[in-house]
Amino acid sequence: MNPFIYDLSLEELQQWAVENGEAAFRGGQIYEWLYVKRVNSFDEMSNLSKELRRKLTEQFSFVTLNEITRFESKDGTIKFLFGLHDDHAIETVIMKHNYGNSICVTTQVGCRIGCTFCASTLGGLKRNLTAGEIVAQVVQAQKMLDPKGERVSSIVIMGSGEPFENYDATMKFLRTMIHEKGLNIGQRHITVSTSGIVPNIYQFAEENTQINLAISIHAPNDKLRSKLMPVNRRFPFEDVIESLRYYQAKTGRRITFEYALIGGMNDQVEHAEELADVIKDMNCHVNLIPVNHVPERKYVRTSRNDIFKFQRALADKGVNVTIRREQGHDIAAACGQLRAKHMELG
Ligand code: SF4
Repeated sequence: MNPFIYDLSLEELQQWAVENGEAAFRGGQIYEWLYVKRVNSFDEMSNLSKELRRKLTEQFSFVTLNEITRFESKDGTIKFLFGLHDDHAIETVIMKHNYGNSICVTTQVGCRIGCTFCASTLGGLKRNLTAGEIVAQVVQAQKMLDPKGERVSSIVIMGSGEPFENYDATMKFLRTMIHEKGLNIGQRHITVSTSGIVPNIYQFAEENTQINLAISIHAPNDKLRSKLMPVNRRFPFEDVIESLRYYQAKTGRRITFEYALIGGMNDQVEHAEELADVIKDMNCHVNLIPVNHVPERKYVRTSRNDIFKFQRALADKGVNVTIRREQGHDIAAACGQLRAKHMELG
């Protein structure tokens, strides 16, 4: 199988053009066809010679995602199940907000992190996506929005998989998204979410970007976090917090803590107070997520009353906190649920 054309950066396309006897600017023209004009085939790249288009066709693959199914929610959320060339399936979600369209992308087929409240991890990790396969999710979404004159205005890397376990592809994807000659999405409108892969948090701190970092914390201490997230045994709670403090000192950027509330597990006021004591001196924001029901697990949903009590307990200690607006609830939009269903049927 040839590499995907979306796997290449602008510089790599320029280099490829030179290696194929053309001027470097031809690489820039290809880039423009891919990300500005957003064509579907090499044949449409009409300012390239036939010979160059033939070479592109011979050496690269173009389409990487086949829409298996799509679900549209009443609130405007659209969830796609895309088939890959090797018959794996991934989910991508477009969410409509009053400020624009946000897209949630997937970085791995499945996931090996094992968070106990998550459907994506049930079948383990199948494989990493290439940078081009992650890019293609956004390009495909943008093509869908093009006829309406709308843009993908923000990106969250919160779909299936742990992006920092596919670090190089994720960074390459991000550089393509923010490139001014490509989709040119504002860095501050992009968020990468990790379960706490400590060495990569340090690495990300050195990347010199304005991209936001979110951390799935889900517990206020080491013991409870290990119970909910086996990854905590590899990278303990205190080490995660220390790496985040380093990231913050280095970048000056605000951190988002994602906290999935699970009934009777981690959703009591004392949990909120304990968490607040750990993070209240950081420039951060807590995003509370009432956990989605995963039929395979026996978790119950936190009551509305307890959600508000939890929120108040954090706010009372000076922590910035919001409750995530749930979208696409009627179409199983939570991470991994659609793919899990597809695997059952398949
Ligand atoms: S929540 Fe994210 S990191 Fe955890 S198992 Fe699910 S996909 Fe993996």
